[in-house]
Amino acid sequence: MQSPIHLQTRIRLQDYEPVVGRSSIEELKMVAEKFSGKIIQIINSTFVGGGVAEILERMVPLINQLGVDARWDVITGSEEFFDVTKKFHNALHGGPAKISAEDFALFSEVTKQNLEHMKFYGDIMFIHDPQPVGLIAMKKEIGKKWAWRCHIDVSKPDKNVWKFIRNYVVEYDAAVFSAPNFSQELPIPQFMITPSIDPLSDKNKELESATIDGVLKKYGLVSDKPMIVQISRFDRLKDPLGVIQAFQMVKKSLDCQLVLAGGTATDDPESTEVYQEVKKKAEGNPDIHVLLVPPESDIDINALQRAATIIMQKSLKEGFGLTISEALWKSKPVVASAVGGIPLQIRNKLTGLLCYTVEGAAYALRQLLTNPEYAGWLGRNGKEHVKQNFLITGHLRNYLLMFLAMDQHSDVIYL
Ligand code: UDP
Repeated sequence: MQSPIHLQTRIRLQDYEPVVGRSSIEELKMVAEKFSGKIIQIINSTFVGGGVAEILERMVPLINQLGVDARWDVITGSEEFFDVTKKFHNALHGGPAKISAEDFALFSEVTKQNLEHMKFYGDIMFIHDPQPVGLIAMKKEIGKKWAWRCHIDVSKPDKNVWKFIRNYVVEYDAAVFSAPNFSQELPIPQFMITPSIDPLSDKNKELESATIDGVLKKYGLVSDKPMIVQISRFDRLKDPLGVIQAFQMVKKSLDCQLVLAGGTATDDPESTEVYQEVKKKAEGNPDIHVLLVPPESDIDINALQRAATIIMQKSLKEGFGLTISEALWKSKPVVASAVGGIPLQIRNKLTGLLCYTVEGAAYALRQLLTNPEYAGWLGRNGKEHVKQNFLITGHLRNYLLMFLAMDQHSDVIYL
């Protein structure tokens, strides 16, 4: 399936200059020149929902703005296939795994179908996450350079699933991980590249207060008391029930409200069930708002993040956790679990507060609610940290440099 028309958004390279500085843009242009006449084909498993789609939706048009031909395709698969890949996802994150021989067979079968019906035309093939990892089989036929981008924390994966995925990964020319501790022993070069947010996207741009008020009204929210917000797909690994527990502890002594807002992703079949669980747990508590946000509600998400007093991300496992950078970019104090790529973004007590348990989360929330000056200081530091490290222009530069470096043979390269 080829990328939707809405990708041709009005992204203009020069609009980034006031945010990241002229030298960053010039550097990008210089690197991009090396790709003249080449095609970068990007493949993942969904155009909508989750961090990967979020990044690609902005990055693909930005690459094109640099005069480089980048195109985005997704694999197709049945509901059963995405049930299996969701199980793989949880297992690679280290969760309990019950994966049968039939599951592995279905994965291989759908991979085969995609190999048969998809078009492979890139000079550089950039494959994201485990769902399409098997497309590497095409390398034997067409050659070209292939990179596998892993957005998952695979530092302690289920052994069987990793073994299965690894058999594909070793055929690539390079693998990319989001944090140094995510990498695995592999016989191919590995690159460490953190994801990023786009400061100019609808998700992150400045909003008028009337827009924020309008969104609050639309969701039936009143900003009459401090608002704790977690934005996440309804996924158990985001621990929405743990967020409710922490909130209930805080609520005993401090008046506040909780907003759990999220949607579903087309490649995540569990989300409806989790949403129902969360609704049930919140029942009878008028200060807990569980909002089902439709896809492509970037302004709504932006407004909810901006309306928040504190943003939470109490994930049990996390890849990078884009929602953290999104929150910090809005100068918000953040309470988040010390998992996955979150500690790269939250330097404890400097750019936010890390927590390890429900009690720890409640303690951090109380600390911030009772000390708004400290909360504001953390938020301001956080914005600077994101500006230095997690914006789309730097991310893109690192990818392009990686493609250039893929011919060289070094084991681990930090960009
Ligand atoms: N997001 C969204 N709508 C939702 C839930 C999440 O637009 O209902 C966005 C969120 O703002 C972030 C991305 O989806 O940009 C989630 O990325 P993250 O890395 O935090 O988690 P993932 O979903 O990839 O595990």
